[in-house]
Amino acid sequence: MLPGRLHSAADLKPGTRIKADVAVVGSGAGGAAVAAELAKNGLKVAVLEEGRSFAPSDLVTRPSWAYRHLYAGRSVLVARGEVLIPLAAGRAVGGSTFVNSAICFRAPDRVLREWERDFGSPWTPDRMAPLFDEVERALDVQKIGPEIARHNSLVFKRGAEKLGLDGDFISRNAPGCVGCGVCQLGCPIGGKGSVDKNLLPAAIENGADVYSEVRARDVRVEHGVAKGVTAEVLDRDDQATGLVEIEAERVFLCGGAFGTPQLLQRNRLCNGSGQVGENLHVHPGQAAAALFDEEIRYWDGVTQGYYVHLEDAILETFTGTPELFWAALPLGQMNLRRLKHVASAGCMIRDRGRGRVRWQGEGSLPAITYEMDESDRALFIAGARAMARVWFAAGAHTSYPLLNATVDPARSLDEALRQLPDDLPARRLNPYGSHPQSTCRMSADPRKGVCKPTGETHEVENLYVADGSLFPTALGVNPQITILALATGIAREMVGKGA
Ligand SMILES: Cc1cc2nc3c(=O)[nH]c(=O)nc-3n(C[C@H](O)[C@H](O)[C@H](O)COP(=O)(O)OP(=O)(O)OC[C@H]3O[C@@H](n4cnc5c(N)ncnc54)[C@H](O)[C@@H]3O)c2cc1C
Ligand code: SF4
Repeated sequence: MLPGRLHSAADLKPGTRIKADVAVVGSGAGGAAVAAELAKNGLKVAVLEEGRSFAPSDLVTRPSWAYRHLYAGRSVLVARGEVLIPLAAGRAVGGSTFVNSAICFRAPDRVLREWERDFGSPWTPDRMAPLFDEVERALDVQKIGPEIARHNSLVFKRGAEKLGLDGDFISRNAPGCVGCGVCQLGCPIGGKGSVDKNLLPAAIENGADVYSEVRARDVRVEHGVAKGVTAEVLDRDDQATGLVEIEAERVFLCGGAFGTPQLLQRNRLCNGSGQVGENLHVHPGQAAAALFDEEIRYWDGVTQGYYVHLEDAILETFTGTPELFWAALPLGQMNLRRLKHVASAGCMIRDRGRGRVRWQGEGSLPAITYEMDESDRALFIAGARAMARVWFAAGAHTSYPLLNATVDPARSLDEALRQLPDDLPARRLNPYGSHPQSTCRMSADPRKGVCKPTGETHEVENLYVADGSLFPTALGVNPQITILALATGIAREMVGKGA
């Protein structure tokens, strides 16, 4: 097959009809993996992506610009519940991989076994292992070293090693990384291996067409079988300028755990189980910081460089742009001078709390609700205590156990632990979530899930889901590698080769 192309909205005349074997909605981790696998197997693939395509030179490394141009809902998505949780998801060719920190973990075996036991998932550790190998090769995943981790990660490593914790440098899909620390604004030097740099070009080479600034609106279903997609062509203000039709034998929904359930809800599809948009997990994370006498310069170094594994939680160092902690920490009058002595990290948990995503109509943000479970609150407190222990072991003189106004700076470990009692109320926490999952979960039992474990929906033939929304429960580690591997396996199964 001749190579395909990356098209922008300007290339598409309203009323255009596109014929393909498979329409793929969304070009993030799931969509890119599906497109690459199907195109490799000779199928004509059309990928629709509502975000734009950005070259490194197009990027402006300012949060205000990035939130507007690279994030879903201009980065003002929030889950409501006892605690408000700001949520992030990417919206660009490459999806959330375009703005992520490139952290690569495989799904823990025990989680895959849980999915097998409770949801009839065939994606066992043995079956996933070669898929993980394959996607890690395709994305050039390598463990980073101290030269790009730099001081923010190295002090954390020093403390973790003193305490004998289970930690290491993080493996990342960023072969050309120079450690500038702004992954979440898009990689300005093109060093990150987001899927627009590897899987999507491979799909295009094998004949796939990728249409940016095109938003899927309707899934066409005839007699219970998916037949294609109607999509809106968007202008630079996200206004629809016309419709295009994609006629396809199969449709893959890979719009992420916010986008996919909304598309099903707007089309009133596949909700016999009542599970569309339910079971939202977000891996809530909570940041903390510490002050050292030595210079840390937390903005210098890879975005996330070192991790410590806890039971159902991970501590990961975190590098941000300088204003992040200048604005958040009570550093006093001398804050600019003290800023370079700040170290930072976060604790991300495998949440048992759940939420719900609801489509709210044309042009509106989704309504998202989420209630934290009691066990989540306990994990957060354990994680915050562990971060304080690591930093005091590394020589910090002050820690900020939770980055919000309700918990004071602590000058000793004892003081930090006193600030984090077992009964610290959830509303004192300050969580954030960038790993939405499970809103169209797979289950062999059609009463418990939206999709079969093959990714095909229980109710509409030839309509598949292959993104983070498929996970039956929270994964517990950063999810991109598992989404990529699962989507590859699902696409391979679909073409009948088995995975
Ligand atoms: C800031 C941030 C940091 C992260 N860091 C890490 C990390 O370091 N490691 C890790 O493993 N994970 C990380 N993640 C999470 C990881 O990137 C995501 O879990 C993963 O990319 C999700 O894959 P997906 O296919 O489900 O959806 P996405 O990658 O989000 O892709 C969905 C795409 O579908 C598009 N779309 C949605 N609806 C429509 C529609 N109707 N029509 C057309 N297009 C549509 C969206 O615009 C989007 O581009 C991070 C996420 C964020 C936001
Ligand atoms: S730290 Fe900088 S160079 Fe490295 S991947 Fe992230 S944005 Fe790119």
